[in-house]
Amino acid sequence: MEQQSSSLFPTYARYPITIVKGKGSRLWDDTGKEYLDLMSGLAVTSLGHCPEAVKQALVAQLDELWHVSNLFHIPNQEKLAGLLTANSCADRVFFCNSGAEANEAAIKAARRYHQKVLNTGRYEIITFQQSFHGRTLATLTATGQAKVQEGFLPLPEGFVYAPFNDAEALEGYITDKTCAIMLEMVQAEGGVIVADPAFVQEVKRLCEKHNLLLIVDEIQTGMGRTGKLFAHEHYGIEPDIFTVAKAIASGFPMGAMLGKEKLAEAFTAGSHGSTFGGTPIAMAAAIATVETIVGDKLADRAEELGRYVTEQLREKLGGHPLVNEVRGKGLIIGIGCKEPVADLIAAIHARGVLVVTAGPNVIRLLPSLLVTKEELDHGIEVIAQVLAERTAAV
Ligand SMILES: *Cc1c(COP(=O)(O)O)cnc(C)c1O
Repeated sequence: MEQQSSSLFPTYARYPITIVKGKGSRLWDDTGKEYLDLMSGLAVTSLGHCPEAVKQALVAQLDELWHVSNLFHIPNQEKLAGLLTANSCADRVFFCNSGAEANEAAIKAARRYHQKVLNTGRYEIITFQQSFHGRTLATLTATGQAKVQEGFLPLPEGFVYAPFNDAEALEGYITDKTCAIMLEMVQAEGGVIVADPAFVQEVKRLCEKHNLLLIVDEIQTGMGRTGKLFAHEHYGIEPDIFTVAKAIASGFPMGAMLGKEKLAEAFTAGSHGSTFGGTPIAMAAAIATVETIVGDKLADRAEELGRYVTEQLREKLGGHPLVNEVRGKGLIIGIGCKEPVADLIAAIHARGVLVVTAGPNVIRLLPSLLVTKEELDHGIEVIAQVLAERTAAV
């Protein structure tokens, strides 16, 4: 199970588990042990593992065409962009291959809009402490966490970190160089911290007042997970740009940047591109995924199940000496603890339930949007048991 020697770069601290098969919310390791998956490959397999509709779309596409390059028209790019814009406030879409690439596109579009369309020359982007926006040089610089940036100096210029959920402090970070504010509606990697409505309203107000673009990173919160197709809908705001990836193609690597019509002037021919972005295979997987999420109203399901899990966890863990708070939105849920949870996570895994951390002290749940109530009940029971035994042992 545990790899003793490896030809891989050791960039991941891996769990001592080797998963070899999956179906729905069930996974099996190389010893045949079954797991209930409540983390979905980090918010990726939102329709569960190997969903039939997506598999059929992929298999059909594999018989037709794999790749032609963006030098040609690709009809399913138009179809998917139409689906996404019909179901959101966006007018235009750029397809890429990952979350970090989607955020790179957002950063480039914001700078270029200010430099080539508005001619303000502005380039600075305000992001937030504890945020996470990716691992490329620009997106790790956008990320407000020192541990992600360590050893990668010099970082690209033009990022400033404001305290999250601090409406009063925010205007003080705006300068005559600021072109955009970029944030997550739920800071996911940062500990499942939900944005306060009043804070988001202030972000929106300041963007309008100072002519800044509002960029929302929906890479983890998008595609129905929080109870709306995109989490910014909870706040009644329309970002100029938002980014998606993770769940958009059920595990096929893909990202997208979505934006308002005015950004089209910034992203003219030759200004940005990607070899694999929008490849026919990715489009097939994403169309089937998005049609399922929208058609089956899975955001509503996430909202309802999320409320249930949160209530159950609060009831079962309320008053527990290690637990501070159960928080989240829809099916992104954090159990905030008073101390590091790595050993608790290992104990939960050992009992066949897969959850993940969000920062050192938070147990994070990201179940499939199709998870059943029975599966959730089982997961909640195991988590409550492990926590109860831990208290007994103290
Ligand atoms: C995962 C994630 C990213 C980075 O996505 P990659 O596909 O790993 O590049 C960026 N922002 C948020 C909020 C994420 O959760």
